[in-house]
Amino acid sequence: MNLILLGPPGAGKGTQASRLVKERGMVQLSTGDMLRAAVAAGTPVGLAAKAVMDAGGLVSDEIVNGILSERLDQPDARAGFILDGYPRTDVQADALDAMLSGKGLALDHVIELVVDEDALVDRITGRFTCAKCGEGYHDRYKLPAVAGVCDVCGSSEFKRRADDNADTVRQRMLEYRAKTAPIIPHYEGRGIVSRVDGMANMDDVAAAIDAIVDA
Ligand code: ADP
Repeated sequence: MNLILLGPPGAGKGTQASRLVKERGMVQLSTGDMLRAAVAAGTPVGLAAKAVMDAGGLVSDEIVNGILSERLDQPDARAGFILDGYPRTDVQADALDAMLSGKGLALDHVIELVVDEDALVDRITGRFTCAKCGEGYHDRYKLPAVAGVCDVCGSSEFKRRADDNADTVRQRMLEYRAKTAPIIPHYEGRGIVSRVDGMANMDDVAAAIDAIVDA
């Protein structure tokens, strides 16, 4: 089972992808995570990507296609993957088709999380994660049970993404609307697109995704 999760920043793609990883042993392929790792490691890709990411723009198709193609070649991707944050442009969608057919892989579902963009800035600007295990939290919606201590692993270190500020978020939304939403018709003709209400609570979103995947 191979999926694409689509939706604007803050729609809940990462939350749902990591749940699918835990519950179904699938692999989450987040180009955002891959790029942040490259930035943290100071690799040439990271150096090229950092300023664009901080401004809320899109990293070049060439770079992103390259890292995704390499990642797809790792054997764990054969267990079933969830693309989170890729493809984001027409060029990436075409590149993905070519990569998948070249590697003997296919897409089963494209799931669009439909959300109200005004609510997203609020969701994104309050979010933070455990620096050790990656558990997600939110200043208003989901604080750790004990202040300053991760519920899952007990760590007291947390981090926030550099691009999760109101200005950058607005730019990321514009990029989504201009470049990413227009790729949906690319998949529509193949009958693999489903829509899920991303404004519902997390468990309902999860149930809706499960119903699509298990159908
Ligand atoms: P979000 O979906 O919340 O905006 P991501 O973690 O998916 O966050 O991406 C963060 C940033 O990484 C994007 O704003 C963009 O600069 C870069 N990025 C991630 N994936 C891609 C991609 N497929 N193409 C171009 N840039 C990307």
